[in-house]
Amino acid sequence: MSETVLEVKNLESFYGPIMAIRGASLKVEKGQVVTVLGANGAGKSTLLKTISGIMDPEKGQVIFEGEEIQGKEPHSIVRRGIVHVPEGREVFPLLTVDENLSLGAYTRNDKAEIEKDREMVFDYFPILKERRGQEAGTLSGGQQQMLAIGRGLMLRPKIMLLDEPSLGLSPLLVQEIFAILKRLNEDEGVTMMLVEQNAKVALELADMGYVMEIGRIVMDGSADRLMESEDIKAFYLGHQ
Ligand code: ATP
Repeated sequence: MSETVLEVKNLESFYGPIMAIRGASLKVEKGQVVTVLGANGAGKSTLLKTISGIMDPEKGQVIFEGEEIQGKEPHSIVRRGIVHVPEGREVFPLLTVDENLSLGAYTRNDKAEIEKDREMVFDYFPILKERRGQEAGTLSGGQQQMLAIGRGLMLRPKIMLLDEPSLGLSPLLVQEIFAILKRLNEDEGVTMMLVEQNAKVALELADMGYVMEIGRIVMDGSADRLMESEDIKAFYLGHQ
């Protein structure tokens, strides 16, 4: 039986007079990876920001585990198990890798379990263990992305909202990070909503996909079906 963990219904979000989300609806089932594809400026980041409470929607609902959470404070949304890994990594550059991971667990006080999760993060990202005492700002872009994901995992999320984890990384690193996301989904059961411009890697990982254009969802379907779609091939896969 599938179980819907997150549902977005007819969402509308604005920056002042600019309507960035124009009535978007989607669903994420437990254990799934759902990707939202779209060009630069389509509204993907705004969608994630509205789900995680950084922005309040003008209209519509965000329903998590059956409860409406739109407009709630980000910290109360994090406590429910929704973790946002923002675009551009946004690690704390002057804190060490270890300190960044500890901050990731800020809502928790189960020390032994937190240490277990730190080891789990190090199993998935061994380079972070090697660099654990190093300031995060001195890591490479790929390592910072790994740290941002690792920090998100320290909250034991029920769902991770990932904003363009491929951004600015070499194709090889993108493959590496997406392989780890796949293992996290399959082995740890982490449900993911993944916003990406890189349609190819996103559809390879995802179960379901949605395509956004100028604030609207214009297409949806299984990742396999979207990969075969002529429109997707022409607009999103053609150049990759
Ligand atoms: P990107 O991949 O570039 O992040 P995106 O699909 O995530 O693109 P958004 O960043 O959500 O798109 O932007 C959606 C729309 O909202 C765009 O028209 C953008 O110009 C506008 N926008 C985004 N951030 C702001 C802001 N802080 N103030 C005003 N307009 C904004």
